[in-house]
Amino acid sequence: MLVAQVATDVAAGKAFDYEVPPALAGAVVPGAVVRVPFGRRVLEGLVLAVSDRTDFPGALRPVLGAGGGPPPLTPALLELARWMAAYYLAPIELCLRTMLPPAVRDGADGDGFARVRVVRAARRDGGAGGRRETAGTEGTAGTTGAEGRPEQGTFDFSGKRKAAERKARAPRAEPTARQREILERLGDGEEILAGFCRTWRIAPETIRRMAEDGLVVVEDRVRRRDPLAGRRILPSAPLPLTDEQTAALALVREAIDAPADGPAPRPVLLHGVTASGKTEVFLQAIAAVLERGRGAIVLVPEIALTPQTIRRFVARFGGVVAVLHSRLGAGERHDEWHRIRSGEARVVVGPRSALFAPVERLGLIVVDEEHEPSYKQDETPRYHARDVAVVRARIERCAVVLGSATPSLESWRNAALGKYALATMAHRAADMRMPSVSIVDMREETARAGGKLPAFSETLVRAIRQRLDDGEQTMLFLNRRGYAPTVSCPACGHAETCDECSVGMSYHIDDGVLRCHVCGAWRPVPRVCPCCGNPDYRFTGVGTQRIEAIARRLFPGASIDRMDLDVTTRKASHEEILSKFRAGKTDILVGTQMIAKGLDFPNVTLAGILNADTGLNLPDFRAAERTFQLIAQMAGRAGRGAKPGDVIVQTLSPDHPAIVRAAREDFAGFAEGELRERQELRYPPFSHFDCVTFRGTDRAAAEGYAVRFAAAIGEGDGEAYVLGEPAPAAIERAKGVWRFQITLRGARPAVLNERLRAALAAVPPPASVGVAIDVDAYGAG
Ligand SMILES: [Zn+2]
Ligand SMILES: [Zn+2]
Repeated sequence: MLVAQVATDVAAGKAFDYEVPPALAGAVVPGAVVRVPFGRRVLEGLVLAVSDRTDFPGALRPVLGAGGGPPPLTPALLELARWMAAYYLAPIELCLRTMLPPAVRDGADGDGFARVRVVRAARRDGGAGGRRETAGTEGTAGTTGAEGRPEQGTFDFSGKRKAAERKARAPRAEPTARQREILERLGDGEEILAGFCRTWRIAPETIRRMAEDGLVVVEDRVRRRDPLAGRRILPSAPLPLTDEQTAALALVREAIDAPADGPAPRPVLLHGVTASGKTEVFLQAIAAVLERGRGAIVLVPEIALTPQTIRRFVARFGGVVAVLHSRLGAGERHDEWHRIRSGEARVVVGPRSALFAPVERLGLIVVDEEHEPSYKQDETPRYHARDVAVVRARIERCAVVLGSATPSLESWRNAALGKYALATMAHRAADMRMPSVSIVDMREETARAGGKLPAFSETLVRAIRQRLDDGEQTMLFLNRRGYAPTVSCPACGHAETCDECSVGMSYHIDDGVLRCHVCGAWRPVPRVCPCCGNPDYRFTGVGTQRIEAIARRLFPGASIDRMDLDVTTRKASHEEILSKFRAGKTDILVGTQMIAKGLDFPNVTLAGILNADTGLNLPDFRAAERTFQLIAQMAGRAGRGAKPGDVIVQTLSPDHPAIVRAAREDFAGFAEGELRERQELRYPPFSHFDCVTFRGTDRAAAEGYAVRFAAAIGEGDGEAYVLGEPAPAAIERAKGVWRFQITLRGARPAVLNERLRAALAAVPPPASVGVAIDVDAYGAG
């Protein structure tokens, strides 16, 4: 008897055994989607394994049905899901779910493809059954043909195929004049039926009769929903490489060509300053992979997945590129995924979740901007795509390249230990020069301004004026949106806070309301203080809207634009603002991190960071690392064209090592000092760091359980210990839910996991408290 082990969405973390009926033996394979009885219901599940034994004492219930075609998950992905479930302490079915886009899961029963009905003249020799080859999607790069593969059978209107064929063999009569006219219009081409009838005012009945008479053929064809449809992208050829690029590529190719029977190749860390040409190295490495008949996955942070990025890959590889990201429609995602599964697309570009694309014969995974926090998923399974990429590469025995101008300290240390191979590109490509970074001490500026911290230093104002005179562009960065982050009453000190969250409300001048940045709630500014009746409110602190307003006052003739979450969801789209800026219609662009990442504008010669301290002051052991990354990123935005760029960093801590080293573009020096500090404090990468969050609408229940859970983990023994007491999370209350946290540290993740599992078993959480375990937590501490 064949037994399938099946995971479903109900029954977290458990898989159940089902008998495989002989008729389904071919379709029920690991990774397949099946329908199984569960209680009185029928559920969809994924087959984890098939064997000939079961530990279940009773009679097994049978698998009811299985999706056709190749199973959605490859054996390598199943193995990866098992690893993720164990490492991140997540139920296996949630890991499997993460790997399959919803549109693909739901399409398991039907097939989820969109179809279009086409009509063409029947060939005289072949009759209605005549088939001809249809053009695929190859051709010039990026001109993505809409019609995909030919459909399985010839369509016939009545649904009685045989009758239609019989009739087709015996045409009734010569075509009428009208029919001849229609045949002429069709010529040798193929038309979409509905559009053809509409354009030429042909009754569908006329076509139906012609099909019956064998004059035309009507078929259903799978219509690919193509995210790049309508875009013309010119093909690009490989660029000549610098010596540094050549050396980096050689290292990656060595990993690609590692012998199949040897150990898995070492991951390659590509440390390249901004504009050093990392992407060209990736492109040529992918070309090498394709030549060997293998596939590649390229991960980029969602925010950097701009049409510009996608264009570069499509320009080089054309139709074999598939794009997966969250802005695609469900249909597009479904079709892209199936193009990958069928092997038609062999290069996948996308954010975090694209790591799970079912590419077979995988030859290379690229993780670009590997230090980006967006690679960490903030819901179960809380995986880090960079780390999982390294594991997938090990399972598939393929090459993996991690690229960054400011590598994470984890990867940097792995390179120092020799676990990763290191390639360094210290120079910008072509004749672009590195920008010069200057630090402005805002303590001095405050003294000069009579004790009030100004938003713009004199140095920055002067530099912007210079750019305006020279017709060059400026980017100004501030990591806080809105107008003023604090709204309070000067008379009694009452501050406006969100009713549902433990944070203050920010004032937004665009619509004149107070907004909560945690839950999005808004309300008008009260007319008088609810505590003391004072009619005046004080708006303190500075957000992007205020910077925009001040800039308009300081530079009255300049054209100024702003890009942050508020603008991009309402006034104009992301793309519109950027294309205006690219065209040089904007002199100054103010924005949040949206403008710091991956954008490339040749006429920007000045980048200003208005308050570099916001990040430094976060209660997070990565605060310094993040600040260094931010300055390096902004430096990467300035001077990408022929003209050199300047970066001005305004800070109250001009001596902080992260700022000083970033100004000198000294990543290695920064990393050395920061690693020494982390080692002393035993923070990652010198230990593993987990964070457990306890949530509930009942504050006492959540806090009480956190205390019991921490006690159950027990005293530290050097292997795993809880840091400090259970404490309120950085945002203690969000959307009405209280949140408490404990953090754990230990040398080995397996030991930490064992402790966490044991604690959960010893003191199961009450129904009112949710527990979220974040293995290798990114922030806090
Ligand atoms: Zn008041
Ligand atoms: Zn709120």
